[in-house]
Amino acid sequence: MNCIFCAIAEKQAPAEVVFETDATISFLDVNPMNYGHVLVVPKKHFADLTALPHDVIPELFQAAQKVAVAMVDALKADGFNIVINNGRAAGQSVFHSHIHVIPRYNTDNFGIKLHLKKYPEGELPRYGNIIRQSLV
Ligand code: 5GP
Ligand code: ZN
Repeated sequence: MNCIFCAIAEKQAPAEVVFETDATISFLDVNPMNYGHVLVVPKKHFADLTALPHDVIPELFQAAQKVAVAMVDALKADGFNIVINNGRAAGQSVFHSHIHVIPRYNTDNFGIKLHLKKYPEGELPRYGNIIRQSLV
C-alpha cells in the first residue's frame, strides 16, 4: 500500500518527529495552519477514526494531549485546536487516521467554527432523537 504516513511511521520517509510511543508517532505537518502544527498518528494503518481499534484510541489521544501541552508551553501559544477530518467531505486528504494538534494565538485571527447554523423550530430535539436511536 502506498501510504505516506505508513512510510513515515516505518522511517522510510522523512518527517520532523516530535514524539513517539509504542503505537503512535507525532510529527510536524508540512503545511501548517500555524507553525508547530503537529499530526498525531497511529503507527499501524487505519483509514480513519471509525476504523481505529478501541485499544489504540487511549494511547493516541494521550499522545495528542501530551503534544498539545508541550506545544503550548514551548511556543507560548494561547490555546490549541484538536481536529480530526474524517472522510473526504470533511476535508480528509490522507487516508491514514490522524489527529491535528494546532497551536492558536489570540492574534491569529482565523475562525475554525465555520458556517454555524440555527435550528428551525423543533429540529434540535428531532436531531437528538435520530442520533440517539442510531446509538441503541
Ligand atoms: P487531512 O487533510 O487528511 O486531515 O490532513 C492531512 C495533513 O497531512 C495535511 O495537513 C497535510 O499538510 C499533511 N501532509 C500531507 N503529506 C505530508 C507529508 O508527506 N509529510 C507531512 N509531515 N505532512 C503531510
Ligand atoms: Zn498508512
